[in-house]
Order: sequence, then C-alpha cells, then structure tokens
Amino acid sequence: MHPLAWLRADNVGDAVASGGRGAKYIAGGTTLVDLMKQGVERPKTLVDIGRLPLARIEPTPSGGLRIGALATNTAVARDETVVTKYSVLSQAILSGASPQLRNVATTAGNLLQRTRCPYFRDPSTACNKRTPGAGCDARGGWDRSHAVLGTSDQCIATHPSDMCVALAALEAVVRTQRAAGERAIAIRDFHTVPGAHPEVENVLEPGELVTHVELPALPASARSIYVKVRDRASYAFALASAAIVLEVEGGTIKRARVALGGVATKPWRAEEAELALVGKAARRDVFEAAAAAALRAATPGKYNAFKIELAKRTLVSALARAGGVT
Ligand code: SF4
Repeated sequence: MHPLAWLRADNVGDAVASGGRGAKYIAGGTTLVDLMKQGVERPKTLVDIGRLPLARIEPTPSGGLRIGALATNTAVARDETVVTKYSVLSQAILSGASPQLRNVATTAGNLLQRTRCPYFRDPSTACNKRTPGAGCDARGGWDRSHAVLGTSDQCIATHPSDMCVALAALEAVVRTQRAAGERAIAIRDFHTVPGAHPEVENVLEPGELVTHVELPALPASARSIYVKVRDRASYAFALASAAIVLEVEGGTIKRARVALGGVATKPWRAEEAELALVGKAARRDVFEAAAAAALRAATPGKYNAFKIELAKRTLVSALARAGGVT
C-alpha cells in the first residue's frame, strides 16, 4: 500500500503552497494516472487543480493569444482563433491521442507529458529516467521509436507531444507561478535534453505551476502547417513530424520557423533549417538543403536510422505545402 494525500486547490496561491517535492498537480490525469498504476510515478500528494480558473482562451493586447493551462486540448484545437491564425497548433493537437483523451487532457498536462519509451513504463527494466543511475535498456535494445537528436549516453527517449512541436514553431511563452512570483519561459528553454540527468525534463522548480501559454502575434501573411508520419492513421505517436511557420514574399522566404517531433528528446527547434531557408527562393531544392541541415547532427541507434531520412522527407513535404510549392 502506498499512502497518498489528496488536496483540492481553490486558487493559484493555494496550489503553489501545496505543491513542492513529493507532490504532483493533477487536472485531466491522462498521463499521471496511468503512470501511477504502472508504479512509475509514486507521488506522496496529489494537488487537484481542476477547479482553478485557468481554462480561458483569450486575445492578448499585443495581438497574440493567451491559453489557460487548464484549457482542454479539444477546446484549443477547436478555438476559432487557433484554427484560423495558428492552424499548426490545431492540426498538431488533432493529430494526437483520441477525441476522448483530448476532451479531458489539458494544455499544461500536454506540456508536461512524459515519454512513451516502453522501458520507462516497465519497472522491471533499467531506466535512468525512472531510476537515476540504473542504466538504459533502450540503448542497444528495441530503439525503433527512440530519438536521433538531443540524445545522451544516459537516455535516448523521444518527447511524445505533438502540441509542443507546434508551440516551438510558434515561439510560445510558458507563464508560471512559483513561490517567488510569476515567470515567463520561452518554449525553447522550457524542456531540457537528457544529458546526465534524464529524470529532469523541464526547467520548472518544485511546486512551480504552469498557468498559461502565450502565442505571439503572427503576420497575416504567415502560413503554418503540421505534418505527422506514424505507423497507423490515428491514435499513434509520431515517427517523425514537422511544424512550420513560413512567410514567403514574391517567391522569397522572408521568415521561417521550423520544429521537429518524433525524432528528438525534446520538441526540436531546427534553427539550422531556418538559416538555410531565409532569403532563399521557395523551391524544393532549398527545402531539401534545409532538411539536410536540420538532421545533420542526428545519431541513429540500432533500429531507428530510418527516422533520419523519414524526418527529412517529412520536413520537405511540410515546407512545400506551407510554401505552396507542388
Ligand atoms: Fe529510460 Fe530514457 Fe533509456 Fe528509455 S531511453 S529506458 S526513458 S533512460
């Protein structure tokens, strides 16, 4: 029997005061409850934040969009502004999970979802992320779904989120509340690569609560798209995906934001690809050069080398569609 305390927070201040080491926030619970059943997560306290007033989606004074941490994935994906102005986000969310899961899964929960590495979810195996210093059975094991970018000797687990890949391309900002006050964290700095500490997955401090995600304004000419390749047509994680925000003027790429999913240990902003695109003609050979740059640092394992070429083709396809190139 594992003793567990349950607290219900009535406001953000209470939640932060109740959080901290040994505690976990719970809202939709679509990942956390599974992990608790599997014996992977063993919190001492669950802080129920489901009643906090953090579900609104509203415009910001600077022309962007502010999404509450408790806005469900369905609410975000179906929001009119998201669909029309930030379609990459709507497409990414709708490409993941199932309608039932999206109806209860929250924005903050999606940000914090944990890897689908099968070894991580099986306590009979060695996993540095689950038990620091235990080893990594995925290395040299069945690594077909694992990462080729951002890996370390300690961990090669893929980040599972589609939503976060879109947020990376949109240059979202994560807003949080902690005991010391509020803070804003650029999405690119929010998740961490495993390095020597795979158990650390983001920069949140113990008890720090995600309250909102903000999307900056996009120029009217920007086109965005999410392309995902997976083993089956629905309810499957990405083998490779690409989120693109592209501005093309007179056939020349004025601005490009590129992020990759399914191939990296965190939502992967591909700046090398962006540098290879800006100022160039929106042409397939330029897209192919950008894709090669994005995957240049990739290091394959035993069974996942196919992901490198797959990610390149996925990225070229997304760029061609966003750039209106056939
Ligand atoms: Fe654990 Fe990471 Fe190795 Fe998977 S890849 S077994 S999550 S350490």
